[in-house]
Amino acid sequence: MLKSKDLLSKPFAEVFYTEEIRFIMPPYAQLARSEACVTCGEMTMSTKMVETDDGKRVCIPCSA
Ligand SMILES: [Zn+2]
Repeated sequence: MLKSKDLLSKPFAEVFYTEEIRFIMPPYAQLARSEACVTCGEMTMSTKMVETDDGKRVCIPCSA
């Protein structure tokens, strides 16, 4: 039976198996530019803006 002392005396590579892995960084979320809401002037991420029926780009609170 293998005692813990024996295990610790073994070289690391004999006890553990290590492998180098390729790590791919996930791409950052696309940063959208900010635009001022035509109604309240609040800077809002352009992807979060809502286009009104008359073509004005407004923030979500103003679109409601
Ligand atoms: Zn607004």
